[in-house]
Amino acid sequence: MAVPKKKVSKSRRNMRRAHHAIPSMAHVECKNCGELKRPHMVCSHCGYYREDMPVLADSASAEKKFGRRPISRPATVGRVSR
Ligand SMILES: [Zn+2]
Repeated sequence: MAVPKKKVSKSRRNMRRAHHAIPSMAHVECKNCGELKRPHMVCSHCGYYREDMPVLADSASAEKKFGRRPISRPATVGRVSR
């Protein structure tokens, strides 16, 4: 096993770890409902990607209203992990 030549002081260790903080996630206001959502993600509150693009709405009413079926994959819904 490799053995460190010198003990790393608390100061040096802490200076190294000063860069380890996780940056906060970006959020934008949903143009449909106004809730905060992650950019380029489906809104987890109302299920819209854009104002004119429902993703999680049921397909029959969405087709009637918007003239096309919603995207069927809900895989891009914004996750709230932190
Ligand atoms: Zn929304």
